[in-house]
Amino acid sequence: MKFDYVIVGAGLTGCVVAEQLSKFENKKILIIEKRNHIAGNCYDFRNENNIIIHKYGPHIFHTNNKKVWKYLSQFTEWEKYQHRVQAHIDGMLVPVPFNINSIHKCFPMTVAREIELALIKKYRYGAKISILELRKEDDELLRMLADYVYDKVFLGYTVKQWDFRPEELDESVTARIPVFVSRDDRYFQDKYQGIPKLGYTKMIKRMINKPNIQLLLNTDFGTVKNDLQYEKLIFTGMLDEYFNFEYGKLPYRSLRFEFETVDLPPIANSKDLRKAADELLNDIYNIRQVSSEVFNDSKSLREIYNTLINISSKLTDASSESSGYTKVLIERVDELLKIASGLLNEAKMLFDDSDELLKISNEMLMKITDIRIKPSRYQPVAQVNYPNEYDYTRITEFIHFYFPYYYQNQSAIAREYPIPFNHGANEIPYYPIPKKENNELADKYKELAKELENVHFVGRLADYKYYNMDQIIERALGACRIINREQGQT
Ligand SMILES: Cc1cc2nc3c(=O)[nH]c(=O)nc-3n(C[C@H](O)[C@H](O)[C@H](O)COP(=O)(O)OP(=O)(O)OC[C@H]3O[C@@H](n4cnc5c(N)ncnc54)[C@H](O)[C@@H]3O)c2cc1C
Repeated sequence: MKFDYVIVGAGLTGCVVAEQLSKFENKKILIIEKRNHIAGNCYDFRNENNIIIHKYGPHIFHTNNKKVWKYLSQFTEWEKYQHRVQAHIDGMLVPVPFNINSIHKCFPMTVAREIELALIKKYRYGAKISILELRKEDDELLRMLADYVYDKVFLGYTVKQWDFRPEELDESVTARIPVFVSRDDRYFQDKYQGIPKLGYTKMIKRMINKPNIQLLLNTDFGTVKNDLQYEKLIFTGMLDEYFNFEYGKLPYRSLRFEFETVDLPPIANSKDLRKAADELLNDIYNIRQVSSEVFNDSKSLREIYNTLINISSKLTDASSESSGYTKVLIERVDELLKIASGLLNEAKMLFDDSDELLKISNEMLMKITDIRIKPSRYQPVAQVNYPNEYDYTRITEFIHFYFPYYYQNQSAIAREYPIPFNHGANEIPYYPIPKKENNELADKYKELAKELENVHFVGRLADYKYYNMDQIIERALGACRIINREQGQT
């Protein structure tokens, strides 16, 4: 069969290109993908507990590019998630990128305050300074901070991630590590951030669900290339592979993910409990106020009110007696909440003729149910980095992405181990290794690529370059503009 366009790779790049070119309805498009699914490394799926898992590592969409955000928003609604990362340093969990909160967590109070003031004075509040720059500082205190961040946060992680020391890699790698003069714990500060509500795979599927796009999964381009006829090829696979490794192989780093389903205690920790008890008390006062007229005349209402106050203070006591999750705490809370909901149900009958009271007591009942089933988490944020301990670099806990919709007693985590990439059949080339000689080798292949008139090379593998998703979308949209110009299409 003859196609106008054959696209190799059904990752984000290939699918954006397909979507754009499919607007010309008379054009026939074929996407060839060697994996058994679309979406490339952005692929996600629901596990047995209905939790969306990112199979090839956590993907958080973030951009300042309004056009890209609008483009993707045609295919998905967003979960307005803001990513937070903590690093396991000296037995503590510390926010990264390193910021003023991290400084106060890692240093004694007076030293932390001095560093904070020195940073604000020199760079202004809100600045991001690379640790390369900080390490060249005249100020001894700031140099000490830079060395600390370099040694504790950056060095071990880099060696695990790349199997090279930082000085063996491009300077750009070190230059990217900032200290953030702020209390803002978010990993990204971009204007638009989120996770597709139903996942990346669903979003990407909607892009290519067009009558003139055909998809061929489980097929390596190399095995069918001689049987295909096309006007143009858009290649998003490995640049060196296309040229049969003529100049040698471009190095990549790979990853191994260890997925685990973990049990969660059925109740939130004591801090959450304390908050819930405070809220309960607030609601009780509210009821008291709204019902003040009937209150004095009704003995049972007064009794209910007093019992609820009692329960709220017992919840507070229970929360301060225990730290973390304890079985005893769960039992006590369960017992108390049972009494509270019984009472409120009774009270609802009394409130029957007051809409407002009924509304408040309904809300209270819902909150009470919420306290019981409020989920705990395996870790406090979606991503915890381990720069120094263990062989993995990070643990991702996926339910954070869709919080607060998942109330369940099991969670799903992935430990991420960097491993070598040896071009084996089932190995995945995840990251181009950021070294000068590798980029020079890629440039040689790019010269060969320029000579091919009917082939376009686009994407992280074809460009031998790490791109975030927003960057790759911009790159793919740009490539389509060129292809359309070449074809006389606008
Ligand atoms: C661990 C990890 C975490 C990331 N996290 C984020 C994040 O949080 N935020 C963000 O913005 N970006 C993130 N990214 C980057 C994001 O994954 C990329 O921007 C995006 O996947 C690039 O899409 P692509 O189509 O170019 O490449 P890919 O997703 O790799 O797709 C290429 C596709 O081509 C197929 N293919 C290759 N060769 C052939 C062949 N010969 N025949 C047939 N098919 C072939 C592959 O199987 C693959 O499906 C992350 C990347 C990684 C590795």
